[in-house]
Amino acid sequence: MNLPSDVELVARWRGEPAPLLPLLHAFHDRDGYLSESAITAVSKGLRIPRAELFATITFYHHFAREQPGQSAPRVCTGPICALRGAGKLCKDLANATPMPCAGRCDGPIPVLKGHKTLIGTTPSALVQTPSPLPVPNPGGHEECVFAEIRTPGRATLAGYRASGGYEALESALARPPADLIELIVDSQLAGRGGAGFPTGQKWRAVADAAGQPKSVVCNADEGEPGCFKDRAVLEHDPHALLEGMLLAAYATGAPRAFIYLRYEYPEICDLLEKARADARAAGLIGPAILGSDFSCELYIRRGAGAYICGEEGSLLNSLEGKHPYPRNRPPFPVTHGFENLPTAVNNVETLASVPQIVRRGAEWYRGLGLDGRAGTKVISLSGDIQHAGNYEVPFGLPLQTLLHDWAGGPPAGRQIQAVTMAGLSGGFLAGDDLDATLDEPSIRKRGSMLGAAGIMVFDDSRDIVEVARQAMAFFAEESCGKCFPCRIGTQRLEERLSGAGPSDFAAWKSEVADMGAAMKATSACGLGMAAPFISDSLLKYFPNQIAQRIHA
Ligand code: SF4
Repeated sequence: MNLPSDVELVARWRGEPAPLLPLLHAFHDRDGYLSESAITAVSKGLRIPRAELFATITFYHHFAREQPGQSAPRVCTGPICALRGAGKLCKDLANATPMPCAGRCDGPIPVLKGHKTLIGTTPSALVQTPSPLPVPNPGGHEECVFAEIRTPGRATLAGYRASGGYEALESALARPPADLIELIVDSQLAGRGGAGFPTGQKWRAVADAAGQPKSVVCNADEGEPGCFKDRAVLEHDPHALLEGMLLAAYATGAPRAFIYLRYEYPEICDLLEKARADARAAGLIGPAILGSDFSCELYIRRGAGAYICGEEGSLLNSLEGKHPYPRNRPPFPVTHGFENLPTAVNNVETLASVPQIVRRGAEWYRGLGLDGRAGTKVISLSGDIQHAGNYEVPFGLPLQTLLHDWAGGPPAGRQIQAVTMAGLSGGFLAGDDLDATLDEPSIRKRGSMLGAAGIMVFDDSRDIVEVARQAMAFFAEESCGKCFPCRIGTQRLEERLSGAGPSDFAAWKSEVADMGAAMKATSACGLGMAAPFISDSLLKYFPNQIAQRIHA
């Protein structure tokens, strides 16, 4: 088979929007690594200074710089390998072939790079590809995101259309974009990726902003440990996402839309490309959609393994081919987003909710929540729990109902010691605070946050201080290094959680609390602000365990 030449690869991608990542992947797929000559070709082809390009490439975890088989095998020290017989040689670390972790790999790469796994928290049912369908709502509550996901054939265009798919787009195109924005504002849908900004307001800001072309960007870089809800939508209901993106593009006046997909979801990349091609062939993407005067192209761009690219400024820089540092804000992406132009950045779950809301109405969606709260949230539940999985819950559902009545509680004979919130970013909830309801105000009142709604359960057999240390090691590994409170603070906190620091417990607590406060006050993005939730919540709930650790 003739492999494409450097010139052919550059020519294929140079004229495309957001060309750097797909071009680097093309070279990497061809050669198994990024050679010096490949970097030179990309640098010249895309007019990116070589030093800048080198710094960007080496920032990502999944671009190998050594030819396959050229480096000596290294010993994996990751926690999962430790559990599975530490010290074994890990070929993956020396092998430059792309590593399709996809959340199903239990090898060291996804662990070292901070994906998905703390001790024992990845249930085997969730490391299959494709992932299992979400179970029907055990509480009998009406769903939005998962309302149709179990319909047979739903992942295909024909199956999607047979269950009402693209009807929302058709009806929206018959009315002015402002009507669609009003509907989404009225529904009270808010961002489901963690930040919780009202979606309709965001779309209105983009629609009103000066500058063309505008963009819609779907954040599908689901890298938060313990979160796998977007994956379920992407795998089982991809057209719901595409339709949601087209609706967002119509509302905001955007002629282009991008999906930024997590590197570790390789099969989903193929699946999305197929869905996109089918929709385009059916006149649902491209020029004059469904015979209207609305046109929109949709592009899929695959990340390269960097947790920080889930942060929207970092994601936009990555998409633009820049070094993926978070951006200072303001200005915000609604006015200065992709290529410094107005951009609506929305999460997968948010966008996949939109077609149902358009079909069923704002009042219907608002009414799905409990006790006056609007709508639903998908929770990824994993760890020491009998029935792990994705659950779409009404906002306001008691956490204990989810844990015990829906998910069966901890393994027999065990008690729940703690749960994490927002994946890892919300730290722990434990003790009396487990009486929270699943909504942001209730959880914030207890010093945590719901965020993207990954909940990992740890029973009373777990060393909770070690769990916290691993969590901090994850943040230290994934800190982008742009600002020193986070770059250094995460490392110092990991050391403290390993038992380092003052031997006097009061002094140790004071030092850890000070470091956390400084990080929260001065870090440039959410990673550095969120990491101290781990140490703060550990101090709040488990002081005796910490004291034992530092005196061990
Ligand atoms: Fe980077 Fe951390 Fe600073 Fe965020 S807080 S910009 S991840 S160093």
